[in-house]
Amino acid sequence: MTKYITSLIICLSFQLFSQAQSQLSATIIGSGSPKYNVERAGPSVLISYENTHILIDMGNGTQANLEKLNIKNKDLNGLLFTHHHLDHNEEFTPLFIKTLLSGNHFDIVGPKPTTDLVNTILKNYEEDIAYRLSKKQRTFSDVETHFTINELKGGETFNIGDIKITSTPVNHTISTLAYRFDAGGTSIVISGDLSYSETLAPLAKQADYLIIDSGGSIELGKTNRRKASNKIRTNKEFAHVNLYESSLMAKEAEVKNLVLTHFNFTNVDEDATSAELHKNYSGTIFYAEDLMSFPKNSKNQKNTVKPNKADNTNQQAPNFKKMLSRMDTNKDGKISKTEAKGRLKENFDKRDGNKDGFIAETEFSRSNP
Ligand SMILES: [Zn+2]
Repeated sequence: MTKYITSLIICLSFQLFSQAQSQLSATIIGSGSPKYNVERAGPSVLISYENTHILIDMGNGTQANLEKLNIKNKDLNGLLFTHHHLDHNEEFTPLFIKTLLSGNHFDIVGPKPTTDLVNTILKNYEEDIAYRLSKKQRTFSDVETHFTINELKGGETFNIGDIKITSTPVNHTISTLAYRFDAGGTSIVISGDLSYSETLAPLAKQADYLIIDSGGSIELGKTNRRKASNKIRTNKEFAHVNLYESSLMAKEAEVKNLVLTHFNFTNVDEDATSAELHKNYSGTIFYAEDLMSFPKNSKNQKNTVKPNKADNTNQQAPNFKKMLSRMDTNKDGKISKTEAKGRLKENFDKRDGNKDGFIAETEFSRSNP
C-alpha cells in the first residue's frame, strides 16, 4: 500500500512538472558559484518546453536537484555549456554517461573545448561504459549515434525539439557563450558568466527573462564595499559584471524581467541590490534560488521580490524569514536593535513602528523608511 501511494505521488509530481511545460520555462537548478554552499548548488538552469528539456551548465549538485524535480537522464535532450570553468561543468561527466546509457538521443553544445572534453571522457570511461551497456546486451555502437557534439564560436542558431536557440560570444576569462531560447512566444536568455559585453543586448532584445551573472550583488548585513561606478570597465581582466554594467545591459536589451544568479553567498540584500540596479533598469528583478521557476506562474514558484516600477526609490523589503535566520540570535521571531545589522540597524527606529524596541514581520513588510 505504502509502495502504491509513493508511486502515485511520484507519478503525480512528474505529471505536474510535465503539464507546466506547455510554456517555455526556466528552472534554476543551481544558483551558486564555485564556492561550495549547501543552500545553493553550482550553476545550472533547466529550460523546458513540452517534452523537451535542456540543461545549461552542470555545476555541483545538479543531479540532486534534478532528482527533486523527477527529471531523469532519459528526459534530457540537450546538455549545453556557457563555458568550461569547473563550477559550470563539474557534473557533466556523470550526466553525459548516464544520459548515454539511458538510450536517449541528445545534443551536447558549447564553446571550445567541448569536443575534447567529450572525447576524453569517452576514452577514460570506455570500459565502464561498455560494461554497463553489456548488462543490457548493448554495445557502444548501439548508442554512439545517439548524441551529437556541436562546438560553437557564438552567432549560431539551431533547434532542440521545438526550442529555437541562438548563441553569442560574451566577455569572460575564457570562451563563453550566452544563449537565447525561444518557443511558443516566450523568450529566455542565459548570460553565462560575463563582464560587460556589447553582444548581450542584441541577443536579449525584449526577452521575457534575462538570467544574468549576479556580479556586484550585495550580501545581507554587509555594506556594499564594491560600489558600482558609473563607468563600463573595458579591461578584459574583469571576469564578472558589476551592478552598473548588468543594469545597463538589461536596460539596453529592454528585457521584461531580470533574474540574478551565480551567488557566492546565501542571503542577498535585495533592497540594496535592487536600488543599484533600478538606477538604470526599470523592469522586474528576481533573485534566483535553487528550484525557482520562470515564468513566475509556472511550477516550483517561490517567494520573490517585485519592485515598484513607478518609483525606483521605493524598494521592496527582502524576505523577513531570511532576515530572521541571519539576525534573530535568540530565536524569538523578531529582531531587536542589538541583533539588527547593516541597513536594518541604520533604519531601525523608523522601522520600529510601535517603538517596542523590536522589529516584527508586520513592521518589516511596511514600505521602506
Ligand atoms: Zn566562469
